[in-house]
Amino acid sequence: MPSPAQDEILLEVRNLKKHFPIRRGFLRRTVGYVKAVDGVTFYIKQGETFGLVGESGCGKSTTGRCLLRLIEPTEGEIIFYDEEAGPLHVEQLDKEQMRRLRRNMQIIFQDPYSSLNPRLTLKQIVGEPLIVNNVARGRELEDRVAALLRAVGLRPEYMDRYPHAFSGGQRQRISLARALALNPKFIVADEPVSALDVSVQAQVLNLMEDLQERFNLTYLFIAHDLSVVKHISDRVAVMYVGKLVESAETNELFTNPKHPYTEALMSAVPKPNPRIRTERIVLTGEVANPANPPPGCYFHPRCRYAQKICAEEEPQLREITPEHFVACHFADELELRGIIS
Ligand code: SF4
Repeated sequence: MPSPAQDEILLEVRNLKKHFPIRRGFLRRTVGYVKAVDGVTFYIKQGETFGLVGESGCGKSTTGRCLLRLIEPTEGEIIFYDEEAGPLHVEQLDKEQMRRLRRNMQIIFQDPYSSLNPRLTLKQIVGEPLIVNNVARGRELEDRVAALLRAVGLRPEYMDRYPHAFSGGQRQRISLARALALNPKFIVADEPVSALDVSVQAQVLNLMEDLQERFNLTYLFIAHDLSVVKHISDRVAVMYVGKLVESAETNELFTNPKHPYTEALMSAVPKPNPRIRTERIVLTGEVANPANPPPGCYFHPRCRYAQKICAEEEPQLREITPEHFVACHFADELELRGIIS
């Protein structure tokens, strides 16, 4: 890893782990660990949208937060390739270096209702990063906030209003304006449209695409909805119980999945043509417990293609065709069904 040229890559993640301790008893002794993220490796190219999907609890949001050190990773490397400073090992940066890096790395959250402070006006919310980083004040600050609001399709006259005056879609636009304030290169979008009505989802997704082109942004787009991810992503990675099980260019993944879990996820996506009838794969059994995962392949108790080796040996993520990575012992042999596009 990785297979693209080094200068194409903006962010690289190697063997990232986040294990949360389980504490019990009066002395709060550590009795085990929840392996929320358990050895994840991937890269994100300059200017692309990299989708990260999986069921809730699979570790995708924890991965996104670790990249910005909103949660401290337990182990692994996160390398941000900065145009001026060169490769930066995010996991090793001190507080001041991290503060400077956050100009380039921003996050927007799922819930636009709780992620905006209800006591602050739009001007304060969007302008805060500019003040904290000594970028603008006074008249210049107002001009910058007005330009940011315009960029996300909101009227600058709204800048003295409070978040409660806005709908969910408008609030997500405010979150985007705030994220853009310091002209970042990379944005983690953590389920940014999951809490919105379907009609509004499309508007926010289109806005994100426009902003990406205009400001040369790179996105990590986290979602559980495969249709949304398919629409916006250049490449997609699938997570299962803290591990990355497959990643590929979007069309390749959706037409030619190589991991049985990806196939099962896709069988549940509504097909655009109702005449095409495909069998829905219903996964039996429980999702593996990240505090006590099964041996071998974590997916084996639910996998309809499992064989003896699957319960004994953990499959490693490997590149089976250029930029198509799979962690399955039988990835070369299985004929799996994707979504006919
Ligand atoms: Fe299924 Fe085995 Fe592949 Fe795991 S390694 S996905 S259990 S076939």
